Amino acid sequence: MSSPIKTPGVITCKAAVAWGPGEPLVLEEVEVDPPNPMEIRVKVVCTSLCRSDVTQWESKAQPALFPRIFGHEASGIVESVGEGVNEFEVGDHVLTVFIGECKSCKHCLSGKSNICQTLGLERRGLMHSDNKTRFSIKGRPVYHYCAVSSFSEYTVVHSGCAVKISQTAPMDRICLLSCGVAAGLGAAWKVADISKGSTVVIFGLGTVGLSVAQGAKLRGASRIIGVDTNPQKYEKGKAFGVTEYINPDECNEPVQQVVKRMTDGGADFSFECVGDTGIVSTALQSCCDGWGLTVTLGVPKMRPEVSAHYALLLSGRTLKGSLFGGWKPKSDLPQLAEKYLREEIQLDDLVTHDLPFNNINEALNLMKEGKCLRCVIHLPQ
Ligand SMILES: [Zn+2]
Ligand SMILES: [Zn+2]
Repeated sequence: MSSPIKTPGVITCKAAVAWGPGEPLVLEEVEVDPPNPMEIRVKVVCTSLCRSDVTQWESKAQPALFPRIFGHEASGIVESVGEGVNEFEVGDHVLTVFIGECKSCKHCLSGKSNICQTLGLERRGLMHSDNKTRFSIKGRPVYHYCAVSSFSEYTVVHSGCAVKISQTAPMDRICLLSCGVAAGLGAAWKVADISKGSTVVIFGLGTVGLSVAQGAKLRGASRIIGVDTNPQKYEKGKAFGVTEYINPDECNEPVQQVVKRMTDGGADFSFECVGDTGIVSTALQSCCDGWGLTVTLGVPKMRPEVSAHYALLLSGRTLKGSLFGGWKPKSDLPQLAEKYLREEIQLDDLVTHDLPFNNINEALNLMKEGKCLRCVIHLPQ
């Protein structure tokens, strides 16, 4: 006689809940529903703080999605699986991802896109499958963030929004591949496809910008010019391949003029990693006529429109956008994790702080003040 299948129940655990824009997170007891069909419930081990968590937490955009649990860069262990899930078993180690891969929609079937039509970027604070939440506090629904919400001891994600990783990968470092580092490496390798000897200019030397630099260096770029108002970022950037530095605050002329002079008419590639649409046009003006390519990765806090003189495009430049570095998470992320385990890419030096879950607000403050690259938050185990 086979034993009856154990049905997972509701879990009560601690989560860091945002009650309003920019208000300190409060550690609350939350109820986490069991996973729906094709979903998994994950015990979060580590979650690193990404700039977009802070941007959305501070955002006063309407409708206001509060209370809400942020967090999307995370590693964890599968606690239970919903009906129909064959890909994961209880105990598997996973990375969560903010854009999923259903493997059956037009985009997942195309080699040209990672923008899954079914499990794309979720902006309504709900789960893709039923437009409901899996979190509640005394019956009151708590919104999700990017259908991940890793600032919680347990979370529910769609099985298409998680990637199985090796049990030997260190959870407190591999979580960085869940968003920022993968986005930067993918922009350099997959989106721009940087070739040996190229000149590269990177606007913004945070985790994403430094990961672009790392990708450019590994491709053999001859010059990697970093642009950032914080000179300390350059010091850090040298280890990731940044060869020259421009501080826009110390320039007597527009940055693009400086880049053009340094590179005989403009760089081969420019990357916008700040999240400022004004800098997108600066980046476009900083790359060369003919083949100059600008890749934009930053998520803007304000002014979503990009403006650029049409002549910049007529003279042969390309402006390309990318989300998650163009990687298809399930197909591509395991290879990046393997690269880290073989020490072919660095993650460790991007971690500037390790903090316990109770100190999560300290991480938000460090990010707000520009005093960290990645803060890894360790959940109690
Ligand atoms: Zn992110
Ligand atoms: Zn899809």
